[in-house]
Parts: sequence; C-alpha cells; structure tokens
Amino acid sequence: MKHMLFLLITFKIIKKKLTKLRERMGFQTTHNTKKSKDDSNNAHEQQHSLIPRALNLTHHNLTTNNTKFIHSGYDSWLVTHPSALSLFDKMMEGVDEKRIVVFLDYDGTLSPIVNDPDRAFMSDEMRAAVSEVATYFPTAIISGRGREKVKDFVKLNNLYYAGSHGMDIMAPSVPINQCDKTTLHTNGNGVPFQPAKKFLPAIQEILKRLENVIKGIEGASIEDNQFCISVHFRQVHEKDYNVLEEKVKSVLEKYPLFCMTEGKKVMEIRPSIKWNKGNALEYFLETLGLSNSNNFLPLYIGDDKTDEDAFKVIRSRGQGYSIIVSSTPRETCALYSLRDPSEVLMFLSRLAKWRKRS
Ligand SMILES: [Mg+2]
Repeated sequence: MKHMLFLLITFKIIKKKLTKLRERMGFQTTHNTKKSKDDSNNAHEQQHSLIPRALNLTHHNLTTNNTKFIHSGYDSWLVTHPSALSLFDKMMEGVDEKRIVVFLDYDGTLSPIVNDPDRAFMSDEMRAAVSEVATYFPTAIISGRGREKVKDFVKLNNLYYAGSHGMDIMAPSVPINQCDKTTLHTNGNGVPFQPAKKFLPAIQEILKRLENVIKGIEGASIEDNQFCISVHFRQVHEKDYNVLEEKVKSVLEKYPLFCMTEGKKVMEIRPSIKWNKGNALEYFLETLGLSNSNNFLPLYIGDDKTDEDAFKVIRSRGQGYSIIVSSTPRETCALYSLRDPSEVLMFLSRLAKWRKRS
C-alpha cells in the first residue's frame, strides 16, 4: 500500500513538473479542457459577432462616405449648376413675362425613363402643366422620337413639335410678331421643315438591315423615328452588348453618310448632317420672328446628350435659360439644373403661376 502511495505521489510530481516544462516551452496545458473549449466558443462567437459589426461598420462608413461623396459631389455641382427651382425668383427678376419661349425635351424630362420605350407616358399632372405653360408662352417639344410619336405621347395641340432630334419640325406658319396671340396658341399645326428628307430611302434600308441583325439578341429593339433610328438596349443582357454594337456598326459601314451616337441605353443612327436640337431651337426662333430680337428669353429643359447642342446655342447667344435634368453631377453646357421630371413639373407649374400673377 505504502509502495502504491509513493508511486502515485511521484507520478503527480512528475506530471506537475512536465506540465510546467510544457508551459515554459509554450505549449497549451491540457487541463481545464471544458473551460478552454468554452473560452474558445466564446471567442469564436465574439469574433463572429464582431465580424458583422466590423463589416457593418465598414459598410456603414463606406456607405456614409459614398453617400457623402455623392451628396457632396452633387452639392458642389449645384454651385455651378444651381437648381432652377431654388433660384426661380432670381431667374425671373426683371424678366418681361411676355417674351419667354419654352423648349422641352420629352424622355427623361417630361416622362420618366422606362424599360419599354413604348410606355414612356407622361403623367396627367405633367400634361396639365405643359398645357398651361403653352397657353402663356410659345412652347415647343424637341425630341429624338418621331414627331408623330412624341405628339401621341404629349397629346396637346397648343404647342409645336420637332421630332428626330430636330430633323422633323412643324414650325409656326406665321411669325409671332405678325399674328395675334390666339392664332399662335390655338393651333399647333404649321409648316413642316425636314432638312434630312433626302435620306429617307437610305434610312428605310438601314432599318430593315438592323431589324435582321438584331433578331438573335434578346431584349434589343428598334424604333423607327422617321429621320433617325433608335436601337434600344436597356433590356439587353450586358454580355450581349458588344455583339449588338458590332452588328450595328457592321450595318453602318455600308452607309458612310450616317453616324451613330449613344444616349441613355440607346444607339441613335442618323444622317451625318449639321443639324441638331440647337439648330432646331434657332429655327423655331426664326419662324417665331425672334431670331434677331434681344427682347426675349429662350428657356430650354432637357436631360439628354443631344440637348447639349441647344444649351450651347443659348450660351453662345448670351440670352435665355438652359436647364439640365439630372440627379447626378454631369458635364454640361446648361447653366441651371433640375433633379428629375418631378422637379420639371414643379418648375413648369411655378412658371405658369408666375405668369398668371404678372
Ligand atoms: Mg431626353
């Protein structure tokens, strides 16, 4: 028995010494296994609970910073392109309310940008606002769409329409200074002006070829705008975009008198003539009898790259207001900005009210 007891004590001493030796060598002790496991689980749980928190924090910081960046980017952009709503009173200070001429783009300006271009409807409120504005000021819509198509969307007869980026204009038949106000505002019909008329046969050819080549590309659609063609790719899968672009370019190679530009998820094919929305604006002013007058203000609202040509005209004339519709900072020749079509609606309503009060 004594012998057994001695052996047990010796074993415990040796075990203790070995444990100390292992600890000195940097090994973990094996005792308190349960506690270690619990600690490990706790640490694991803590780590997992911290990781999302850290990620969330990082994400939050990034989001906050990005938001701040976007906001501060937009805010600083607003310094150079102030809101036409915020500065409305200042813009209209000293303006003779009878000499404003209003020009409006359609898609993205009066209507929201939608996936299906055939469903880019404007709201009844917007229609009412545009109609009211047109009762007070000569008003024209200048769109990339076919003229008849944009007229179908707008459904108003008391304004003028230009389609195909200004290549199809129905202008006033009588200059404004030679007719009374009633004549001008009760009849939107006028004299057609179509500077790209000779290209019509080629446009129809291109249209047919494009319809053939896009057949295999899901989501691609073609819109016949009479004097230009739109290839919509908003619903085309990203992986198919390059193929679509190549196919469109291959068709255009055979038509050197045509060019392609890109808008919002749309490729525009049109004749390479020096005629754009800026020329259309000038043409309207001429037919309204205002081209040589300093006593009027063209006001142009648009969201598209093609609207920049009209902004440039206003800038070079040194008279009028150019207003870009954009919710992000953009390089533009426009002096003022509105965030989206809902702000365009507010601006037009305010313009009509201001004229009513004057
Ligand atoms: Mg537009």
